[in-house]
Amino acid sequence: MRTVQAALAQPTRDDAGRRVHNFSPGPATLAEPVMQQIREELLNYRGLGASIMEISHRSPEFEAVLDDAVGLFRELTGLSADYCVLFVHGGGRMQFAAVPMNLVGRVASRKTLYVESGLFAATAAQSAAAFGEVQVVASSKATGFDRIPEVPPFDDDAAYLHITANNTVHGTQWRQFPDTGGVPLVADVTSELLARVVDYSRFGVAYGGMQKNVGPAGTAIVVVRKDLLGHALPSTPAPLNYTEMERAGSLVNTPCTFNIYVAKLTLQWLKEIGGITEIERRNRAKATLLYQCLDASGFYATSVRPADRSMMNVTFRLPSPRLTEQFVDQAHAEGLYALAGHRAVGGVRASLYNAMSLDGVQALVAFLREFERTQA
Ligand SMILES: *Cc1c(COP(=O)(O)O)cnc(C)c1O
Repeated sequence: MRTVQAALAQPTRDDAGRRVHNFSPGPATLAEPVMQQIREELLNYRGLGASIMEISHRSPEFEAVLDDAVGLFRELTGLSADYCVLFVHGGGRMQFAAVPMNLVGRVASRKTLYVESGLFAATAAQSAAAFGEVQVVASSKATGFDRIPEVPPFDDDAAYLHITANNTVHGTQWRQFPDTGGVPLVADVTSELLARVVDYSRFGVAYGGMQKNVGPAGTAIVVVRKDLLGHALPSTPAPLNYTEMERAGSLVNTPCTFNIYVAKLTLQWLKEIGGITEIERRNRAKATLLYQCLDASGFYATSVRPADRSMMNVTFRLPSPRLTEQFVDQAHAEGLYALAGHRAVGGVRASLYNAMSLDGVQALVAFLREFERTQA
């Protein structure tokens, strides 16, 4: 049995009441005020005597939550009326199939173009092969995904060109999105959703699983330019069909109501702190602090091309796997959680999503310096 005190602990404290910083790549840390509000209203949502999880998705209370979430997303991103915002089941990866299912039918060639900038990007391309012809137009695989590859001229009869805005595993991020002319640009924004100012009018579709910057896992926010609707393959299940989802206001079936509720609270929090401009400023400050520390060190090594460094996922290496393990364990003991790199690449990865505080990054930098010093 957990003690009463532990049960009442602050979200970012451990059982001993000590401040913890969670660098998990996802599911990831959420804003503390959001977690507090969830706790306050969990059993009795606004006097209903029931949890938001326990009421109908067609109830006025939940419909208000969904409307607010969509409205806040539109407001914060400055989204034009040409786009719809959908909450779709299945997280980021379900969209790897939903995108081709909804878009290949637009062109006779059924051709799709992919930029292979990391592990998720490669998986997205593989997933599309079941629905159309896949061309990988650019790849940085040969250099270990240490950069965003240059996009060469490509066929303009394709249904879309797909990029991964932020490569979570390797720690690279597009600075400037490619100009794709008449071919719709599709972006997986899972690991940078709402983390920097983005001009959505550049995209045909932008989708992101919520569990890195917005809320719990299992739901994606999908932004679709409305003129791309209406071409889903007949085999597309209704809950993945953008056209049907748009018509039903994301309520083709029962959505993950709790996830949408948390997304609404996170969007509200973002608005209160000053919106996307402010969160981008904070994210930039956090990443700059950490990269400066790494660059000044003769001990830690970064391999990503500096121009392509991610603000969200900072990756680096120690001289040996043994030291890396020691580093991750010792950091954990000091309340700096989940710093191990992705299992496919090893090393260290610090994820600095929206809810990570500058305090957390300062604590990490202090730990990095101390660990390096004790190795000298
Ligand atoms: C985490 C992640 C995914 C996978 O999301 P799921 O919700 O687990 O399917 C896809 N793309 C990127 C870029 C990610 O970071």
